[in-house]
Amino acid sequence: MELTLCLIKPDAVRRNLIGSILFMVEKAGLKVMALKMLQLDKRQAEGFYHVHRERPFFGELTEYMASGPIVAVVLAGDDAIKRYRELMGATDPTQAAEGTIRKVFAVSKQENSVHGSDAPETAAFEISFFFNAMEMVG
Ligand code: UDP
Ligand code: MG
Repeated sequence: MELTLCLIKPDAVRRNLIGSILFMVEKAGLKVMALKMLQLDKRQAEGFYHVHRERPFFGELTEYMASGPIVAVVLAGDDAIKRYRELMGATDPTQAAEGTIRKVFAVSKQENSVHGSDAPETAAFEISFFFNAMEMVG
């Protein structure tokens, strides 16, 4: 069993898509282990995305991530990191496969509705960024 972090990003929360996205996640067999709604401030968004701090889109990305509420969700399952990334689809929704969350819901390469961890080390960092042990079941 593996854990991964899902974020439902501000564009999706604004468009009332929390339930639709969680429906797709649960239908794919991933289990919700922890969940909270919150709004990051700019500095917290910069901390979460620090791996991208040198990228040209960093300022805009962190501005957008702090622009409204998000939902943070810990997901569990066999091979959960890879399975959830496949369910999300490519970063750019125009490149995302049919039936993926980003193909169905994303607005643009930046406002792409969801985040997912990309490796066990980043999943561990990202989960502990949002949740302590008492906030997780299982
Ligand atoms: N992003 C962007 N422009 C880009 C690449 C990425 O605005 O050219 C944003 C987008 O919201 C993406 C996030 O930065 O989800 C993190 O980028 P990453 O390459 O890690 O993509 P992901 O892992 O989310 O698919
Ligand atoms: Mg990434």
